[in-house]
Amino acid sequence: MDEYRGVLVFCEVEENIAPITLELLQVGRKLADDLGVELLTVVLGSDIKRIADELVYFGPDKVYVIDDPLLKSYNGDACTTVLERLCEALNPDIILFGQTSVGRDLAPRLSFRLKTRLTTDCIDLSIDQDTKLLLQTKPVYGGNALAVYVCEVKPQIVTVRSKTMSPIAYDENRKGEVIEFDTEIDELIIRTTVIEKVKEEATGIKLEDADIIVSGGRGIGGPDGFEQIEELSKLLGGAVGASRPPCDLGWAPSTHQVGLTGKIVTPNLYIAVGISGASQHLAGMSESKRIVAINKDSKANIFKVAHYGVVGDYKDILPAFIKKLGELK
Ligand SMILES: Cc1cc2nc3c(=O)[nH]c(=O)nc-3n(C[C@H](O)[C@H](O)[C@H](O)COP(=O)(O)OP(=O)(O)OC[C@H]3O[C@@H](n4cnc5c(N)ncnc54)[C@H](O)[C@@H]3O)c2cc1C
Repeated sequence: MDEYRGVLVFCEVEENIAPITLELLQVGRKLADDLGVELLTVVLGSDIKRIADELVYFGPDKVYVIDDPLLKSYNGDACTTVLERLCEALNPDIILFGQTSVGRDLAPRLSFRLKTRLTTDCIDLSIDQDTKLLLQTKPVYGGNALAVYVCEVKPQIVTVRSKTMSPIAYDENRKGEVIEFDTEIDELIIRTTVIEKVKEEATGIKLEDADIIVSGGRGIGGPDGFEQIEELSKLLGGAVGASRPPCDLGWAPSTHQVGLTGKIVTPNLYIAVGISGASQHLAGMSESKRIVAINKDSKANIFKVAHYGVVGDYKDILPAFIKKLGELK
């Protein structure tokens, strides 16, 4: 039987190392130490030596680099193939991806190629001391319960929700090895081409990275109401989110949607304004550290997950919030 060893973290790069990678390296380091194995990371791209060298200071024992002009922008076909080859060479026991658009595309493809399984959207990971298997905790039933999964097929592959693990700190004293993994990419395997990249309009902090999110729902009543949501979020240094109806109705961009078919967020503070708390919305925000709900219906489901609730019309409550915050500042 093949021997599986090591914890491999897939490094995502935006312009620099993506925040999710630092979170994965932190939990990966703990898992590797608990198993007494090496922490490995892999970075794919074109001209990425700088990123590979920098990664060493975030704790992996080995950084594998796959540098190829064909990997300049993300391509699922090429990335899956080179990762498959790397995994066949390394035989990692555990592979960690972020629950991001790249992770959600790549992890299922790689699991299929390696004939193993995948647990998505984990919020906690640990090692079972008896079996040495990975305990994979994830929210189920729209965030109303937590389930712990175990995969007896190796490698054990998971995606991890952002902001559920603390990021590893930079330490210049760390030493790790940077290894170039040579592998040829045949252009014929690439069946998809990036025609154009449209950068999301930079309107402050990204939803996934925000510590504070103020979200509006159908109860906001129209685009004008979202101006107040924007004002409050700016004062708090946060980001604006929305439930699905405001996005469908064009009151908010679709990139703001939080929930099952939107973004999954875990900020320190989530303020839900005029949102009823449907299970599909809760699936995207119920793991937030503190939830404040503002709703005129005292029986709204959102109050079941909220730590603090304000019953009333947001048109009265938000201006009072904004005024008070202005005074405190
Ligand atoms: C397959 C599928 C996927 C879905 N994915 C998502 C998803 O990703 N994200 C998502 O959000 N939804 C999603 N939905 C939709 C979801 O089921 C709900 O319809 C939606 O979340 C409801 O949004 P809401 O709470 O803003 O609106 P509503 O349910 O209409 O609630 C509006 C709330 O505003 C309150 N309100 C009204 N006026 C005021 C006021 N003046 N002041 C204060 N409160 C007020 C009301 O009391 C009410 O509670 C999905 C549905 C399906 C079927």
